[in-house]
Amino acid sequence: MKRRDFINKAGAGAVIAGSTLLTPSLVHAKTKYKWKMVTAWPKNFPGLGTGANLLAKMINEMSDGRIKVKVYGAGELVPAFEVFDAVSKGTAQMGHSGAYYWKGKAAATQFFSAVPFGLTAQEMNAWLYYGGGMELWRELYAPFNLIPAAAGNSGVQMAGWFNKEIKSVDDLKGLKMRIPGLGGEVLRRAGGTPLTIAGGELFTALQTGTIDATEWVGPYNDLAFGLHKAAKYYYYPGWHEPGSTMEAMINKPAFEELPKDLQSIVLAACKAVNMDMISNYTARNNQALDTLVNKHGVKLMPLPDDVLKTLKQLSEEVVLELANKDPMSMKIYTSFNQFRSQVSQWSSLSEQAFLKARAL
Ligand code: CA
Repeated sequence: MKRRDFINKAGAGAVIAGSTLLTPSLVHAKTKYKWKMVTAWPKNFPGLGTGANLLAKMINEMSDGRIKVKVYGAGELVPAFEVFDAVSKGTAQMGHSGAYYWKGKAAATQFFSAVPFGLTAQEMNAWLYYGGGMELWRELYAPFNLIPAAAGNSGVQMAGWFNKEIKSVDDLKGLKMRIPGLGGEVLRRAGGTPLTIAGGELFTALQTGTIDATEWVGPYNDLAFGLHKAAKYYYYPGWHEPGSTMEAMINKPAFEELPKDLQSIVLAACKAVNMDMISNYTARNNQALDTLVNKHGVKLMPLPDDVLKTLKQLSEEVVLELANKDPMSMKIYTSFNQFRSQVSQWSSLSEQAFLKARAL
């Protein structure tokens, strides 16, 4: 009797195992998903567009073709600044962009791309993955039917291209500059006029005098747009974008429709691209800087310390005001700010001290 019970139970167990493990995976193996990825970048744009391409390629390959992601450049399916709405509504299943473009949707999105005098790429990833940042980002995007993921980082950017020298804060007064997000608000406080213009329109805007100055990313991307042909002075450092995170956003119902393994593949691909992009930028910026300076005779200039000090003071004000806009912004600010204080101490003993030592 006992032996028969055992056999019966074992048999029943095998059937259960078969039905829960084998059948669904066979169903999943047959289900193919066709996704659209809309992006805020010109198609194939170095670093950003190619980062989006890599993300799609990795998802296609890692899923063995079970998810086929087609990438659309800015304006191909929707304009650059409609990526958020398109993915939120499910017009596209995925998007690749920068979270600060969506400050009109929720002010706190800006904490997830670039905060002036905020976190470097390494520190930002630490906050997102191990400091509570990712959980807050998911909470912020949930009402929009979106799941966010970090999917790229530019590293420290350049302060930008100017058609005149910046010797003091007075030189920022009346300056019409393309500078999005919180950095733009800081420039406004310093007396300038910030504008948000999509990357693809920058060169013409600067060349025709619609704007007096622009920031974009760094040598690699700025060279690709030919910005050195439209302005003379190239300033550093990118105080406003010390390590900008690029985002992947995924339409929530589309994500939830996927079996667990494909969900994991999508998120793992985002994480891989997040690391790939910063490596790509670090390598290419060196080469492009050399070309800009030695081939095109670009004038590299550091922003004067007193200009940076003023911009830093204004940044603290602007970020605090953002925090006071709504409870969610305050919650994210508190986490971000606490992390920045802690990590600053460690970074000054590690990265900063080492870089200083290496330069001796
Ligand atoms: Ca930028």
